[in-house]
Amino acid sequence: MENNQNILQDSFGRKHTYLRISLTELCNLRCTYCMPAEGIPLSPKSHIMNFDEIYTIAKTFVDHGVTKIRLTGGEPLVRRDAEVILKKLATLPVELAISTNAVIVDRFIETFKSCGIQNINVSLDSLDAKKFNQITRRNDFEKVYKNIQLLIDEGFNVKLNAVLIKGFNDDEIIDFIKLTKTLPVAVRFIEFMPFDGNKWDKSKMMSYAEVMSLVNAEFDENDVLRIADAPNDTSKNYKIKGYNGSFAIISSVTNPFCDSCNRIRLTANGQLKNCLFSSTESDLLTPLREGKDIKPLIKKAMQAKFKIRGGMDTLEKLEEPKLHSKNRSMIAIGG
Ligand code: SAM
Repeated sequence: MENNQNILQDSFGRKHTYLRISLTELCNLRCTYCMPAEGIPLSPKSHIMNFDEIYTIAKTFVDHGVTKIRLTGGEPLVRRDAEVILKKLATLPVELAISTNAVIVDRFIETFKSCGIQNINVSLDSLDAKKFNQITRRNDFEKVYKNIQLLIDEGFNVKLNAVLIKGFNDDEIIDFIKLTKTLPVAVRFIEFMPFDGNKWDKSKMMSYAEVMSLVNAEFDENDVLRIADAPNDTSKNYKIKGYNGSFAIISSVTNPFCDSCNRIRLTANGQLKNCLFSSTESDLLTPLREGKDIKPLIKKAMQAKFKIRGGMDTLEKLEEPKLHSKNRSMIAIGG
């Protein structure tokens, strides 16, 4: 590892070892909390990283200490050359993982296996077909549910990500947890976060504390077990005694985990984001195409990383539309 420059350490001493790469801004779902109804202005195709560029940038990060890469989007699997990209990245000495909505995941089982991908995060916001179709603006519930079962049967570690929206799916929290009685999955409840154009408001957000009070009202307190969080984990993990799976809460809004943040993000058009919430980005793709060394740019971007949530260090600042609307929509960041 060429670690002589420590380019992935920020000014607060945090080392960034986890890179999330968005493969595309396109998606086969239209989740209301993720993208505006009118869609987003897409980058011209020529501005999207090709597979060689993805590999070259990823390799630079891996050479400097990145040990885990998660592919995301948009929906990473709708990219035509998704399989080629996965196979190329699998040659790097890195743990590869993927976040997907699982609509077409059945076509990739063998590719995942040959690439050594074991950890798959699947978005699933409702267990009710009608509600699922309503929030995703598509009718794919049955396909997704079947594909989740397929992933489990094929031996993958599956996490189900549910974004909680009050009045929409908060009545399903207990149903989701009960699913883990038999299914060996980790259900992760995500606090609804504000991004450009997603009509966020605090009253729609279900907080960590609110989720736990529902859990504690439903289950005997001796049966709700707090289990170990993995290092740099963004989630607080729990399990119901005797259940096969587990559940967790990702509390980016009420309880940010910035102190132990080890994440950086590369958008599909080659912009480095040093934080999910940052309103600024560093272009790596243009200089790469010009044959320039991107390492000094990466170092500069890491040095500019704020201590907390892209500088929105209080809940009041996060709630201020003028601040969070400077960020992209989630669809174009890659959650
Ligand atoms: N298409 C893939 C998928 O469905 O997982 C990857 C991209 S998606 C943007 C990644 C994750 O971001 C999903 O779990 C999604 O639910 C989450 N997400 C999107 N918008 C969000 C928001 N406003 N608040 C919290 N999570 C959000």
